[in-house]
Order: sequence, then C-alpha cells, then structure tokens
Amino acid sequence: TLQWSSAPVGKGQSRVGRLFTFQDVTELAELDRLKSEFVNTVSHELRTPLTSIMGYLSLVLAGTAGPLQEQQREFLNIVARNTNRLANLINDLLDIQRIESGRMPIHLSPTSLASVVKQVAETFRVQAEQKGLSFTVNVPEEVPLINADPDRLTQIIANLVSNAVKYTKEGGVTVSVSAVGDQVELEVADTGIGISPADQKRIFEKFYRAEHPYVREVGGTGLGLPIVKTMVEEHGGDLQLESQPGRGSRFIVSFPALKDES
Ligand code: ADP
Repeated sequence: TLQWSSAPVGKGQSRVGRLFTFQDVTELAELDRLKSEFVNTVSHELRTPLTSIMGYLSLVLAGTAGPLQEQQREFLNIVARNTNRLANLINDLLDIQRIESGRMPIHLSPTSLASVVKQVAETFRVQAEQKGLSFTVNVPEEVPLINADPDRLTQIIANLVSNAVKYTKEGGVTVSVSAVGDQVELEVADTGIGISPADQKRIFEKFYRAEHPYVREVGGTGLGLPIVKTMVEEHGGDLQLESQPGRGSRFIVSFPALKDES
C-alpha cells in the first residue's frame, strides 16, 4: 500500500508547485508486526527461567536448603526484589503486547469495586509505611456494583496505588471509592512529587517517564499508565488526572454504576 501526501511548494505567497511524498506503509505495518512478535517471543522465553529462579529463591529464603546467616538473607532479599522487578517488566511488556494485538481477554461481570479496592490497596500498606508514609483507604459499605473484570480492575488499582507510593517522599497516600451520580469513582491521591503540565500530556504514552531526577532514581518501565488507560477505556470508564508539581497528584477513575435491580 502506498500512502501519499502533498504540500504546496514555493516562497511566501507565490506558489510554484506541489511536492508529493510516497511512503510504503505495507512495509511499515510488516515491521511493526515483526517487532511485536519479537517482543512477545522474548518475553515468553524470559518468563520461564525467571519463574524457576523465583521458585528456588523462595525455597532458599524459607530455609528449605538449610539455615541462612543474616547477611546471606539480606543479599538474597536484594536478589528477590530485583527478580520481582524483572518479572513485573516482562508482565507489563506481555500485557501491552496482548492489548495492542487485541488478545487481552476481558470478562465483564457485576463486580464490587469497593471490595477489590480494599483487597488490592491493602497489599501496598506495608510498603507505604516502611517509607514513613500514611496510608488511608476510604471505602463506604454500600457502593453500587459495576460491570467489570476483577483481574483487570486489580491491575488498574495496583498500578495507580503503587505509583502513588513510589512517587511520594513524604505525607501519604489516600485511596477512596465513592458513588457519584450514576458513576462509581476510584480516587488515588498522593502528596508526592507531582507531575508538570507538559508531562501530564505524555505520561499515558508507552515508555514515557517524566524528566524528574526522582523518577529516574526510583526506576520503572513507563508501561503502567498506558495499561491503566486502555483497561479503563475497555470498561467504558473515564480517567482523569489533577496534579501540581511538588504538591501531589490525584488520579480519578469513574465507571458507570450498574442499575440496582432489587
Ligand atoms: P513507571 O512508573 O514504571 O515509570 P507509569 O506508566 O506507571 O510508569 O508512569 C509513567 C510516568 O508518570 C512515571 O514515570 C512518572 O513520571 C509519572 N507518574 C505516574 N504516577 C505518578 C504519581 N503518582 N506521581 C508523580 N508522577 C507519576
């Protein structure tokens, strides 16, 4: 397939002709497909040995291979943390790949956002408190159900809450669920480093990370938010961001509430 575009050529007002440019988009599409296939194969091949590493590592850490000295435990914990980072990177790459090729299955059913948030958010409490941050989860008893895939919801919540903890040096993180009109909202607010207006426009792009020293220091893939955005869209939801550099950020996700049929 050839795609063409044309533009007037000439100085100022006096047009002298048109310049035509042709580009073979078949070749580009094929390159894109090959790139996707490559990322997919490599990610799968990396995952198998990594699963084995993580399995044996947890056996050794559990003392199955004999007692560990303090320093051995300390070093192995560092190995475990970095192995987890690698596993997360690979999972994110595979997710992006699945999303882009339309192979990410989504199974919608009436789901309680409130209970998924309670479960998932709590898994970040220890991490937040170890950093000296306050960690508050506000979930009311009665919230309408939403039509959602609990696995995908888990990823949305985990990505937003882990970012909030990661990019906050002091103060804290608040995760709330509330019913607003015919919507159910999830809000993840932090008192962290914030996001500049220019970066706010770009952080939902794949691999984009803000040009901030702290962002570089903590590391990451730049794949979490693009995954969140796509998954929110697939639920017919809406994603909003308010942020002030140096003050903090608020990510608000709203989902259409299911009508109460009782
Ligand atoms: P990662 O965290 O792996 O870099 P994400 O896609 O989750 O990737 O986020 C993209 C970028 O958006 C981050 O690198 C960071 O610059 C910015 N960001 C995301 N969440 C926050 C937050 N809560 N506070 C400040 N910056 C954030």
